[in-house]
Amino acid sequence: MSGESTDEFEVYAMRYAHRESGVRAEHFYGFDDCQDQLSPMDFYVWAAISPSTTVIVDAGFTPQTAATRGGGREYLRTPMETLSGLGRAADTVEHLVITHLHYDHVGHIADFPRAEVLVQRAEYDFWSGPMADRGDYAHLSYKSDMDYLAGQLDAGRVRLLDGDTTVVPGITTHFLGGHTPGMQAVRVKTNKGYVALASDSSHFYENFQTDRPFAIVDHLPSMYLAFDKLRELASTEELIIPGHDPRVMERFPAASPELEGFAVRIA
Ligand SMILES: [Zn+2]
Repeated sequence: MSGESTDEFEVYAMRYAHRESGVRAEHFYGFDDCQDQLSPMDFYVWAAISPSTTVIVDAGFTPQTAATRGGGREYLRTPMETLSGLGRAADTVEHLVITHLHYDHVGHIADFPRAEVLVQRAEYDFWSGPMADRGDYAHLSYKSDMDYLAGQLDAGRVRLLDGDTTVVPGITTHFLGGHTPGMQAVRVKTNKGYVALASDSSHFYENFQTDRPFAIVDHLPSMYLAFDKLRELASTEELIIPGHDPRVMERFPAASPELEGFAVRIA
């Protein structure tokens, strides 16, 4: 397999934070028989690496956010530090795909200073619009993060996408909606086949495997259709990577002995 194509990538899930104390009632749409049962969550940034290119998917939240937001969010290690353990420096990354603009996916954009930031226009418009200040939405996205992004858009570093887009040969983004107005997934060509980085179009394996959406909903039918789309995008179901499932760390091997608990190699 090796050497026959230049557009195949290695894919890593980099775990930067953990929350043990969540319960199922917070994480699954509608009534659940086991609402009070613990539902631990991991927080990830993903890296797709080829000899010549590094593409980062999402930008996590910061240690400061973990401290001020509380809720049992335990910060483990910055994604930039884990990335350096994979042999790539954050300040050399050229492409940063943001799957959606919730606070736990945008906090470290400034730490990838040379990267073009790719986000769906529908997502940007929603979170820079009037609804972002309302109730629960104000809790899901921070004005400081959006102000930073707006400045970067003015500076020409942000590309607003109108649907499916090729990032580089071998990596494409796919508009899904559902969880948020401009939610997108990322497909990466690897030597195992196509990996679908679902991000929060399926927080857990259980979401797409049991047709059970997450609790935070923008458009419910689109959340169901996103599960179908993930199956289309990935070469096998094992290569659909959910956005917050601790099982990802168990299903795939550590990227290296030093990165045990911080990064796994998906393909
Ligand atoms: Zn998330």
